[in-house]
Amino acid sequence: MPLLGAHDSILAIGAHFDDVELGCGGVLAKAASRGCHITILVMTSSSYTHARGEIVRTAEAAYDEGVAAAATLGVTDVRCLGLGNMNLRWEGDTVAAIEAIMEEVRPAIIFTHWPFDTHQDHHYGSLATLSAARYFSSILMYDPMFPSGRSYHPFRPQVYFDITDTLDAKIAALRCHASELRKYGDNWLDAVTARARYRGYETGAQYAEAFEAVRLQVRL
Ligand SMILES: [Zn+2]
Repeated sequence: MPLLGAHDSILAIGAHFDDVELGCGGVLAKAASRGCHITILVMTSSSYTHARGEIVRTAEAAYDEGVAAAATLGVTDVRCLGLGNMNLRWEGDTVAAIEAIMEEVRPAIIFTHWPFDTHQDHHYGSLATLSAARYFSSILMYDPMFPSGRSYHPFRPQVYFDITDTLDAKIAALRCHASELRKYGDNWLDAVTARARYRGYETGAQYAEAFEAVRLQVRL
């Protein structure tokens, strides 16, 4: 039974450019090819300066990389709240900004971070999304990715999507994030592929993405 119809809207939310591609890029590529309207919402500017003072990524470069990555998945609607990287807050203004976009898009499914992710932006970004989404019926939290997602709490995969047909698009999207690729190298992409294979193995597919459900409305 399909969770998504061809005319459904999807809202995929991440704290930084690249989070959504890592967490649910395969699902988004598949849904885009079926005609779903997809909005990617990035909460922070994603600019990053290393503690040594070296600029790893400007906000402009992060945005350009994110738009190119989204296009690789077949997604053209990319929004950015431009909030401070590494300082995301779970507070009223952030919740209201997310809520306004949810009201506009009316998503059938919302994808967001898992709140036990150890990156503070992922953690608070997830909580702000859950606050904003209180009137929506289907919210799935994506599998956290090392290094940021290492946690004291176990991720419990509950909902799987077969992404065998779109793993290549997911990896191509991640390759658009040149500043991340410089930081982590091809090992990063190998690990993403290995995780997709592992999640696929768990559910009888070649490659899959897994999610924890906050709640899920199933239509007959
Ligand atoms: Zn992130």
